[in-house]
Amino acid sequence: MTDNITGKTVVITGASSGMGAAAARHLAAKGAAVVLGARRADRIEALVAEIVAAGGKAVAVATDVTRRDDLQRLVGAAVDTYGRVDVLINNAGIMPLSPLERVKVDEWDQMIDVNLKGVLYGVAAALPHMIAQKSGHIINISSVAGHKLFGGSAVYSATKFAVRALSEGLRQEMAPHNIRTTIISPGAVKTELLDHISETDVQKANQDYVGQIGVPAETLARLVAFAINEPEDVGINEILFRPTAQE
Ligand code: NDP
Repeated sequence: MTDNITGKTVVITGASSGMGAAAARHLAAKGAAVVLGARRADRIEALVAEIVAAGGKAVAVATDVTRRDDLQRLVGAAVDTYGRVDVLINNAGIMPLSPLERVKVDEWDQMIDVNLKGVLYGVAAALPHMIAQKSGHIINISSVAGHKLFGGSAVYSATKFAVRALSEGLRQEMAPHNIRTTIISPGAVKTELLDHISETDVQKANQDYVGQIGVPAETLARLVAFAINEPEDVGINEILFRPTAQE
């Protein structure tokens, strides 16, 4: 198959750790120019230095996805630096799981702000450029929790179900604009995602489970590359993967 990654400009949110950082390394090694966004600027700047030292192309823009202006600056940096934005990966996310009865309303708000509104702000920043280009690709990261509920996942799942609905709407409405849409729903992956669960009993149960069966972050990187690499007239609309051992 002809390579369809080399030379593309790929914007990645949540690129400072886990799956976003793995996708950045993988796509840059395949010849994409990557534009990295996250709040921890030191992390994404170090990743840029690593990619550039390896002969790749990358820039970093400190980005909080709960701020619309930050997404505009992130996507704007792609256009200013590399002339276009071919792919946006809305990957930034948080998962402070807890049972509803504990009423962690601040964490509910944060999940809605990052996992859902953050994706919408990314879409808002990228779409005008992609429509003008008459090409583009938006990849949204949902979750197995966007397909089913598990202990303490009600609000997290609500945001991830919503991301799937949004992605299907995007697919239908963007087809005439030659913009591809991919939704990727990972199962358990070993990353920093569980570090921010504030309920210690919930955190421990999840750490034990993911520690046993979780797969590496590079799993998502390979699947992102697969979706991008398909020819432009093929949209890989949905990918759901789990560790083989995950129930
Ligand atoms: P990590 O915690 O390792 O990475 C999360 C990333 O999101 C970090 O780079 C973090 O950067 C970024 N982020 C969080 N809040 C914000 C914000 N307000 N603005 C900008 N960036 C933010 O976890 P994963 O790699 O696992 O998570 C990536 C995605 O995968 C998430 O959407 C998650 O929900 C999803 N997912 C993960 C699964 C897993 O098992 N690991 C399973 C299914 C889905 P920073 O803190 O520097 O801002």
